Amino acid sequence: MKLTLKRKKGKFKPGALVHARRTFQGFFLFLFIVLLWLLPSVDRIFFTANPHLSLTASAAGRFFIPAIIPALLIIVTAAIDTSKCLPWIGDSQCLQCRYNCPVPGNAVGILQKEGHIFLRPEILPDLCMGCGRCQNVCPVRPHRAVKVDSSAAQRSKKMHIKEIYRKNKKEIERRFEEFRRTGCSSDKEIFAEMCFCIMTPQSKAVAAEAAVKKLKENSVLYTGSKEKIRQYLRGVRFPNNKASYIVRTRDAFTDCAKIRLKKFLEEKDIYILRDRLVKSVTGYGLKEASHFLRNIGKGSEIAILDRHILKELAAHGVIKKIPESIDRKKYIEIEKKMKEFACRVEIPLDALDMVFWFSETGYFFK
Ligand code: SF4
Ligand code: SF4
Repeated sequence: MKLTLKRKKGKFKPGALVHARRTFQGFFLFLFIVLLWLLPSVDRIFFTANPHLSLTASAAGRFFIPAIIPALLIIVTAAIDTSKCLPWIGDSQCLQCRYNCPVPGNAVGILQKEGHIFLRPEILPDLCMGCGRCQNVCPVRPHRAVKVDSSAAQRSKKMHIKEIYRKNKKEIERRFEEFRRTGCSSDKEIFAEMCFCIMTPQSKAVAAEAAVKKLKENSVLYTGSKEKIRQYLRGVRFPNNKASYIVRTRDAFTDCAKIRLKKFLEEKDIYILRDRLVKSVTGYGLKEASHFLRNIGKGSEIAILDRHILKELAAHGVIKKIPESIDRKKYIEIEKKMKEFACRVEIPLDALDMVFWFSETGYFFK
């Protein structure tokens, strides 16, 4: 089953409204702070003769202005409770929240199933202004299925990934079973997976997979020269470098004219094994080594910190922002944070990686 989240395309830039609102809030916060600071001076100048009109003594001065500051800082967003929402529980195709959302581009997206309409609403937090119209029109009683509050954005995202996991658990487990089978297959098959992970940096995984398939079909992967391999790396970025990495890695793991990888992979400590891969496979960093280990069924304790995963981690507040570069120390630090987050949302680390990937791309891949 393939699920995608559909957004209407248009000139409207996602997140622009939220950014505008934050700028607006920041500006008014500044004005209110200046006003508070000036109140005693204004009192001294204008209300010395009429102290009962004093701004610092009035209700506005004492309560309203201080109260409005935190109110201005609150970012409210809608969140759908999928255990109550009518389309989600299969009761009706309500979608009143979507029809009534006033945001250009619509802050209520709908999930699609393999290109067909799947009619289940999903709040897009980067578009939602928190106006509350969806909550007002929601017919579910006594508690509405969509609510607007300040913590809803993070809750909505957590519910979103939990829902993806719940609905795709079987598919995710089937993928893990496939990975374990690859890990138990021949040295040649494991080497092909290793080459797939050599090719993925800055390239689409689908293109890397297609290139590996072609290399195998044309009997080039295990014996071909760098130039021959290079010819089949269509759609893979930096094909010259990557062809050369494949040949160097093949040479490193060839013994008596045979590729031998299984012995190398016998190491039980996954972190030691990952470090050894980084040292032994040309083109591998921690991300590529983790990817390879996950694809041969050894990924339960390690994270593949590619840009999709980092984007999701930032969106869930696990990391403050996507780092421009990641050294070893940073990688391990983010990996630890992702593990803690996986515990909090009760999704195994390797499954969380798949869920994040799905959330970003709309499909599962290896
Ligand atoms: S209006 Fe309420 S019940 Fe209807 S689709 Fe939206 S959240 Fe679900
Ligand atoms: S709160 Fe307003 S902007 Fe957000 S989804 Fe509901 S109707 Fe749309």
